Amino acid sequence: MLRCMYCHRPIPLPKDAVKAIWERLKEDPPSHVDVECPRCGRVNKVPLHTFRKLVPGGSAS
Ligand SMILES: [Zn+2]
Repeated sequence: MLRCMYCHRPIPLPKDAVKAIWERLKEDPPSHVDVECPRCGRVNKVPLHTFRKLVPGGSAS
């Protein structure tokens, strides 16, 4: 579970959504993943290594 760095609320990220983002990024992984907070609408820059922990089976490329 991610937590918004601005409003400190948990950001719900369904596994499907995480997987979809990862599928898009894994070819050319950035250092950070932009995740928009649904509550305050601000974009959190999530370090890639943190994001990867959320990816189902994500440690294997
Ligand atoms: Zn927020």
